[in-house]
Formats: sequence, structure tokens, C-alpha cells
Amino acid sequence: MEAIIKKYYAYRAKLNALSYALYLINWDTETEAPSGCLDERAKNVGELVSMMLEISHSKDYIEVVRKIYTSKDSVDEALRKEIIKVYEALEKELKVPEKELIAYEMLLASANNIWKEAKLTDNYKLFAPVLKKIINWQKKYIKYVETPNLKGYNVLLDDYEKGFTMADYDYLFDTLKKELVPFVKKITSKEGINDEVVRKYYDITKQKKFAKYLMDVMCFDQTYGITKESEHPFTSGYGTTDVRVTCHYYPNLLTSSIFSMIHELGHATYERQCDPKYDGTALSGGTTMAMHESQSRFYENIVGRSYPFWQKHYQYLQSLFEENLQNVTIDAFYKMVNKVEKSLIRTEADELTYPLHIMIRYDLEKMIFEDNVDIASLPNLWNKLYKEYLDINVETDKEGILQDVHWAGGSFGYFPTYALGSAYAAQLYHQMQKEIDVNKAFSANNLAEVNEWLKEKVHKYAGSKTPQEILLLATGEVFNPKYYIDYLKTKYSKIYKID
Ligand SMILES: [Zn+2]
Repeated sequence: MEAIIKKYYAYRAKLNALSYALYLINWDTETEAPSGCLDERAKNVGELVSMMLEISHSKDYIEVVRKIYTSKDSVDEALRKEIIKVYEALEKELKVPEKELIAYEMLLASANNIWKEAKLTDNYKLFAPVLKKIINWQKKYIKYVETPNLKGYNVLLDDYEKGFTMADYDYLFDTLKKELVPFVKKITSKEGINDEVVRKYYDITKQKKFAKYLMDVMCFDQTYGITKESEHPFTSGYGTTDVRVTCHYYPNLLTSSIFSMIHELGHATYERQCDPKYDGTALSGGTTMAMHESQSRFYENIVGRSYPFWQKHYQYLQSLFEENLQNVTIDAFYKMVNKVEKSLIRTEADELTYPLHIMIRYDLEKMIFEDNVDIASLPNLWNKLYKEYLDINVETDKEGILQDVHWAGGSFGYFPTYALGSAYAAQLYHQMQKEIDVNKAFSANNLAEVNEWLKEKVHKYAGSKTPQEILLLATGEVFNPKYYIDYLKTKYSKIYKID
């Protein structure tokens, strides 16, 4: 057995080196690669990917993984957990014919351009045929990998949030539907909050100064991390020693860079605070998509949009932008960053209405994969649901069904993790309040105490525990959406004076 494990580690080191190269190339592509080099680099990326497949689909590698898996009860716990994860992913991969997968990747490459064009020209009919092909492939993929216990749309959900099925999501979204839809209607019928001032001109150099300040507030250690700019903010990491964050600055929207910076630094903090013993293993990094999103949203919304946080930091922001903010009180600013409104675009939605945007996408994906709904009817269904949940009319498809890139990229089953992440965050917050003085922690010079709590309860486990195990250990309870509803209702009833 020892010799086989040694062999596995040697393969793993090779695969790690290749994926590290791909990680760096991808970071460069998203941040500063000149556009003229993209074709040439695509060839090299293709070569690196096939080198990885040559190893991971080789007879010898497969045999090594299977052998260790068969004797998993005799190896140490970290390796046992790792090999279960590697084995399950590999077996799943092997069920899908490689040729078909390559053809599908090519379909996705062309789909992205078609989607962009369709969105730009507000033409769903242009996108529908390729969307249909993607969905048909997904249905085929489901058939390839499904098991007696995991069928249909559940297969796709499981790819993004292992162990979470339609039954679990239905419970979450049914609760949201019952509790949140009427609550949002109550709030949006009240007089809105005027936030024009955050849309004035804000010098980008000064915005960057504040972003740098936020890095210190969140204790982002630049020995192991860097930040750059990109079109869409994101975080990527390679183990605990290399964590990278991007931001985008808009001269006419102050809040965008502030909250996306806090959000991405939340992802980064999770990566940084994993136990380094998992670096270089398959358990490295955050455990699932939703748990990752729970951490970024914890920092962005629960901490970053809280009153105590701005009690500490508003004065500095005000001093940077005196020309716009000198007459804006902290109370007014706090309300502006928590403004609720009916809106069409998911990525611009506020904390309270955001999960309703997700619920619409979840409902539609379920219809696509469980009820075989006709692709041509999707825009109408989309618009109907926006009317029903958010009481808003969708006038164009570019502000409707064509707004998100996810479906063009074949990412079905991904959206629901966004809402689940916020719900995990609220459950963790409920527990945090019992254990530390959150007002003090949120209004401190930096968030070291918050970081420490999340490290002990969530981050340190990296991928070695499932979200349910983490929640149970941290809060004494498995996932419960009640805390999310309670958190939202308490916070927004106060802001909007609703009894
Ligand atoms: Zn995120």
C-alpha cells in the first residue's frame, strides 16, 4: 500500500504543477494579458489541459486511485477523505465520453459569443437554438452520471453543492416564498430611500485608497495575497499562500467598489484561513460553492452593511469624499447602503430582494429539467415569475432572461447556491451573536475577532467537512432557513419602520 500511496502523491504533484500553471494563466487573462495574445495562449492552455488528462485518465492513475479507495479504511483520515473525493469525481468523469465532452466545450465557446450578441441586440430567438443544445447536452450528461439515489436536476445541484437536493432547496425556497415575498411587497410599497448622493462623481484614486484601507480592516495579508482590477470582480486562490482578489471601480457609483471589495476579501479570508495542512491536496480551499458564498456575503452584508461597521469607518470615507458626503449623516448613509427596491437585474439587487431573483432562476431550472418545458416559452415564464415575486414588469429580454452568463456557460444548478450561501451566513451569525459581542467586533479597528471566530468554526476545516457537518458543529443544528428569514425581517423592519 505504501508504494501505491507514494505513486499517488507523485501523480498529484504533477497534476498540481499543471493546474498551478493554468491558475496563473487564467489570473493573467482576467487581469492584464494583452488581447492580441489570447489565440496563442488558448493553444497552450489546450496543451496543458490535455497533459492533465493524459495523467488523470491514464490506466495507471485510475488504478492507483481505485486501489487506495478500496483500502481507504486503512489509511489516515486526511488521505481517506481526499481519496473519496478524488475517486467519486473521477468515476463521474469517466462515465462521460471524452469525445462528447470536447464537442460540448466547443459548443460552449461559441455559445458565449452568441449570448453576448443576443443580449446586446435584445434577441432571445438568436440565443434559443444554442441554449436548447446546451440543455440537451445537460440532459444527456444527467443520464450518464445519474445513480439510483441521484436523478434528474438533482445531479446538477449535487455538482455545485454536494449533498443538497431539490427537497432541501424546495424547503428553503418555499419558506422564502411564504415569508419574504409578502414582506418585500410591504417594504417596496413604502416611500423609497433616496441614494442619489452615492451616484455622484467619486474620484477613482480616492476609491482605491479606501479599498486599500478596507484590506487593512479585514487583515488581508499582502505577503500572501494581491489585488488587481478586472471587468468583473472575482477571487482566486491556490492554497493558503497565494490568494488573489480583483475589484472594479466606477466613477459614478461609490458603493460598488466598497461592497465588492469586502465581498471578495471575504472569499479571500476563507481561503487564507484554511488549515495549511490541506494545501496541495484535493481538500484544499473552501468546502463548497454555497459555503464560500456564505463567507463573502457574511462580510459584505452582515458585517459590511451593518451600523456598527460604519460607526467606525464612515468618518474616514467622509473625509476622503468631503465634497459629496460632508452633509450626509451616518444614519442616512446606513440607510442608503441598505436600500430595498424592486429591480430587474440580479447583480444589482439589494440584500433583501436578492434571494427572490435566485428563486426565479431555480424555479425555471426545475421546470427545464423536471418538466421538460419548451425553450421558446422561457422568456414568458421568466417575466411571469418576476411579476409574481417582485411585482415588476420585464420589458426587454436583455433585462430579463438574457442578463446572466451562467446558462450560456452550461452552469445549471449553480444559481441556488447563492441564496443558500446567504442562508448559511445568517445561521452562523445567529450563533456568533451568542458567543461574542458582535457590535464591538464589527466596530473595532479591524475584523480580527470576526476572522478568528469564522476561522475556528468554518475556515480551518477547508474541504475536509461538508457544510452540514460544519453547521452542526458550529451551531448545534443542521441547516435551518429560519435564521435567514429572521435576520432579514429584523434588520429591514427596523430600517423601514415596519411592525
Ligand atoms: Zn462571491
